[in-house]
Amino acid sequence: MPNAVEPPSASPTRLEEAYALLADASGAPWRPLAGGTDLMVQMTGGIGEPPERVLDIWAVNELRGIGVDADAIVIGALTTYTELRRSPVVAEFVPALVEAAATIGAAQIQNRGTLGGNVVNASPAGDTLPVLLALGAEMVLGSAHGERTVHADDFWPSYRTTARRDDELLVRVRIPLALGRQVRFRKIGTRRAQAISKVVMAIAWHSSADDGPWADVRLALGSVAATTVRARTTEAAIEGKRPTRQTADAAVEALTAELEPIDDVRSTADYRRLVAGRVLHRLIRDEGGW
Ligand SMILES: Cc1cc2nc3c(=O)[nH]c(=O)nc-3n(C[C@H](O)[C@H](O)[C@H](O)COP(=O)(O)OP(=O)(O)OC[C@H]3O[C@@H](n4cnc5c(N)ncnc54)[C@H](O)[C@@H]3O)c2cc1C
Repeated sequence: MPNAVEPPSASPTRLEEAYALLADASGAPWRPLAGGTDLMVQMTGGIGEPPERVLDIWAVNELRGIGVDADAIVIGALTTYTELRRSPVVAEFVPALVEAAATIGAAQIQNRGTLGGNVVNASPAGDTLPVLLALGAEMVLGSAHGERTVHADDFWPSYRTTARRDDELLVRVRIPLALGRQVRFRKIGTRRAQAISKVVMAIAWHSSADDGPWADVRLALGSVAATTVRARTTEAAIEGKRPTRQTADAAVEALTAELEPIDDVRSTADYRRLVAGRVLHRLIRDEGGW
């Protein structure tokens, strides 16, 4: 039965106030509500544990904004997909994130859904997660005790869990700036809009010339495992190689052996493995221009 009873809620306007509420251990834990495009669906649909207390953070403007500091692009957790798509800073430094944002839901979801919500919701099909993982993003968590930073490699330890504690908010995401870094994003779904990924992929690398060897390769995939994952064997197959047909063939062989996707309502494991390989092959071919 869908949950018909509304849980108690609070709507702080300042971060400090939100932290104080989260730190109050006298009652049930608060569940943050950002855009609500995941949480409201879960609550009204009776999916998962219903929240006992809801902390509506939408009015906490300290969680908004996109900027650049000394060595990273910094994106507030409440930044919506529409804001990501319209940001000249994101377009310049992380165009793959603009591409990912553009594939999420449709306009209504993009106006309300936030980057922080996608990150903390921790769906293995979350479309921004592979981009953040490929780019080695850092998640800044805040609480009444201060802030701490968790690397994307450690943020999603298992199915739908995160490194976040109950008394913390995701405050911002830091994406390190790196000269000469390239990143590409690909999503396979049933349609162009309102489609949950069957496979979603992002790959980042450094190269000093257009068809030069790829270094520091990070290949991240979603919808192929319990969490967003890096395909490390495949990364190793590409590392130090130029984007040739031989490299693409070797990468596909490695990826097909490395991935262990599941069958579910959206796709079969075989399809996911096959399409992930094809997409990677084509991506390398496009970069190599052959
Ligand atoms: C029709 C539809 C289409 C969709 N299409 C896509 C799609 O194509 N790709 C995709 O990836 N997703 C899709 N989604 C899912 C959803 O829109 C995204 O995951 C979105 O980014 C969630 O953000 P939100 O702000 O709405 O999160 P909310 O629903 O408010 O929160 C999600 C979770 O994150 C937690 N949370 C949120 N912000 C914070 C914070 N700052 N600190 C701590 N915890 C926090 C909440 O407690 C909750 O557990 C779709 C959803 C719908 C309804």
